Amino acid sequence: MDLGIKGKVAAVAAASKGLGKACALELAREGCAVAICARDATTLQATAQEIARATGARVVPVVADMTRAEDIARFIDTARSELGDPLILVTNAGGPPGGLFEQFDDAAWEQAFQLTLLSAVRLIRAALPGMRRAGWGRIITITSITVKQPIDELLLSNAIRPGVVGLVKTLANQLAREGITVNNVAPGSILTDRQYELAQERARREGRSVEEVIAASGAGIPVGRIGRPEELAAMVAFLASERASYVNGATILVDGGAARGLL
Ligand code: NAP
Repeated sequence: MDLGIKGKVAAVAAASKGLGKACALELAREGCAVAICARDATTLQATAQEIARATGARVVPVVADMTRAEDIARFIDTARSELGDPLILVTNAGGPPGGLFEQFDDAAWEQAFQLTLLSAVRLIRAALPGMRRAGWGRIITITSITVKQPIDELLLSNAIRPGVVGLVKTLANQLAREGITVNNVAPGSILTDRQYELAQERARREGRSVEEVIAASGAGIPVGRIGRPEELAAMVAFLASERASYVNGATILVDGGAARGLL
């Protein structure tokens, strides 16, 4: 299938590792020029070079923290000045910390709000004028299975990520007539670097091998394993495509069937 996005500019936030990196790589493979950001300059630079080498795409790395308004504005401004208006925007950031109700004070809640919801608002605000000028745009937010099925120890994610879905549904209603679609992708358990590190810690604690821990966490999922980053990236690339022009306001789980309700 030709996704019809060759030559378009994509901005993928929080993309030096994990899901963001996989999305940037997939969009670059489809012929997009890609701007990526993260906080650690060394890893970000290495990822930009890796994607450029693997795909031949132009990749612009911008060191930026998604909790800071000025960094977000600079990320999108740099993408625009180096590559052109980003018409594909993938919002993403590190996850808020896990924990239970008593563990979080106001400052922790406010930090999680900035990281998870306000970052998406700010990214969209910065990229939207260019999409409007072009009369074409694709906004894709990355959230979590927690927007469909809360996970007890992920309170901040359970409480704040649904706000992103509310944002997506509202903007989807308002922007579609301008050629701009807005959708949300909700990953279940996907084996990124972060997930691998968590599995290593757990393996050490429980005296098991990492492979055993990873296999065990996939056992309860209908597909029988945890996911690969490129499996989420394939969905994001499709939603970013010309071919997805009638998919709007959707939240699409990429979870191997892990969420059990009629969703
Ligand atoms: P990851 O492998 O740890 O990668 C996170 C990426 O985001 C890195 O490039 C990191 O680089 C960057 N980042 C983190 N905080 C940032 C910030 N404040 N500003 C800019 N960049 C930032 O994580 P992941 O597994 O890909 O997860 C991505 C998102 O999906 C998270 O919100 C996570 O909670 C959510 N999610 C993941 C899964 C899963 O199974 N993997 C499931 C559900 C939801 P720097 O540290 O250098 O900034």
